[in-house]
Amino acid sequence: MKKVFGIDLGTTYSSIAYVDEYGKPVILPNVENQHLTPSVVFFDEGNIVVGDVAKESSKIYPDEVVSFVKRSMGEPNFLFEYDSKMYRAEEISSYIIRKVVQDAEQNLGEKITDVVITCPAYFGINEREATKKAGEIAGYNVRQIINEPTAAAIAYGTVESSERKTVLVYDLGGGTFDITMIEIKPDAIEVICTGGDHNLGGKDWDDRIVSYLVEKFKNKTGIEEDILDDPDTCQELQLSAEKAKKVLSQREKTPIAITHGGERVKVELERKKFEEITTDLLERTIAFIHDMLEEARKKGYDKFDEIILVGGATRMPLIMKRIKEEFSMEPKSFDPDESIAKGAAIYGCKLVLNDGLIKKISENTGKKIKPFDDLIELTDAVDVTPAQIQEAARQVAGETGYTLAAVERSAVKVKNVTSKSFGVIVRNRQNEELVFNLITRNTSVPVNTKKAFFTGIADQETVLIRIMENETSEKTLPPQYAIEIGTAVLDLPDGLPADLPVEITFNLDMDGCLQINAVETYKSRCVDVTLNTCAVINGEELEEAKARCNNLFVH
Ligand code: AMP
Repeated sequence: MKKVFGIDLGTTYSSIAYVDEYGKPVILPNVENQHLTPSVVFFDEGNIVVGDVAKESSKIYPDEVVSFVKRSMGEPNFLFEYDSKMYRAEEISSYIIRKVVQDAEQNLGEKITDVVITCPAYFGINEREATKKAGEIAGYNVRQIINEPTAAAIAYGTVESSERKTVLVYDLGGGTFDITMIEIKPDAIEVICTGGDHNLGGKDWDDRIVSYLVEKFKNKTGIEEDILDDPDTCQELQLSAEKAKKVLSQREKTPIAITHGGERVKVELERKKFEEITTDLLERTIAFIHDMLEEARKKGYDKFDEIILVGGATRMPLIMKRIKEEFSMEPKSFDPDESIAKGAAIYGCKLVLNDGLIKKISENTGKKIKPFDDLIELTDAVDVTPAQIQEAARQVAGETGYTLAAVERSAVKVKNVTSKSFGVIVRNRQNEELVFNLITRNTSVPVNTKKAFFTGIADQETVLIRIMENETSEKTLPPQYAIEIGTAVLDLPDGLPADLPVEITFNLDMDGCLQINAVETYKSRCVDVTLNTCAVINGEELEEAKARCNNLFVH
């Protein structure tokens, strides 16, 4: 049976984990023997270098180094040019995935084929699809893309505690912020609500230090030019700022040197000052928590039992202090750097063991069994007895080398919600365009909804269905608050009157893949679309990227 590995593809750092035979998630270090690999890619004259060396090289070769590429995932306009070739965010990310997998293979002495990759809960269709493509370009079978806070909660729920409770996962990574309410039960992990900002993370705290240093340099030297226009100085300041930020998590102050144009200035940054210049960033996260809690209240959840902090940037002491002050509750820091990869590995292991259980139960009982979410669902659906499940679990344990307890634990159900709303463009009575949401955010997935709309005029030849993604919870909204993620055209028969009903069905699966079906009710002509967004690498371009990555050794 194939193992599935969990990859945390972070904005600033990435990591990989697997589940050992006792069911315990373990991080696999890279060849430099570190648990975290900087998500930085250096195009070094024909070689691709990822990690620490790439990060260090950014000082000397700023134009050949790409950092924070995750912030550009699914963005059609992002292209990095090197040696007259254009690279999309997906391809650059594939090198990061390659590096962590390759090092893990070396470490374990076995080939890795199947992976689960995490992404911020806040990622929409394009960004998720791009993350999946990054894994495929790297040459791996991407079993699923799961949300980072869900992964962290899986790790927390299965490793730390199995009591029933509602927890808030405050996840502040290098480039993204997610806030998620999750219900942990002994047999299930259920996401209730999610919110956040995919352009808010530790890097923004670094940027504030950079601006502060630039100002200090100006004051001390009298040099008026913008020193950030010099790519070398800019990279150097970014690295110094991140280092200073980390030191300030431990100490009250830190010295920082700024060198530019032959001038060298030493600045001492105090934690208090750092907290003062970043306070609005922290307050933004607090506002996001309240927005999310408001949504949760609408779903009937008006309190929570715990707050857990994940993501490297939650190490900044003020985060814990401020949250404690706001919610009168001591937040728990939970394995901030590693819980996401570990949770993804546990989820991957669950997929494998579930497959194994299905196979064994089918063989033993002669019954055809579909993939299932949990064992209760299985016993209800196909009338399999607990004894038969136990027997199959014992066989799977025997064949895989996992302990029986690990196999049984793998049956924990994971339920997610969509972080985005999805709708179509319609016209109201005043003939103005509006987005009508068929799926609103924070609905449990998978979800299937159907709604009838009406043609506008007699003899209409086609219906153009414009599929929109947005972040509001309203049923209708002006189009400028949504982005178009795809279109479909439904041809209509001749001679139809106005106001003919057209039924549109949206089907959103666990992976965040959206399928649309539209049918006219007169002759039942229909159109089916699986959203293959044009914002993400596809077709020939995808094949070329895969070919480039094939046999590539990442240093
Ligand atoms: P992640 O995406 O979870 O790996 O988080 C990475 C972010 O955490 C980066 O912005 C790091 O600079 C930040 N980070 C890591 N360690 C610390 C620390 N000790 N203090 C403050 N920020 C940190």
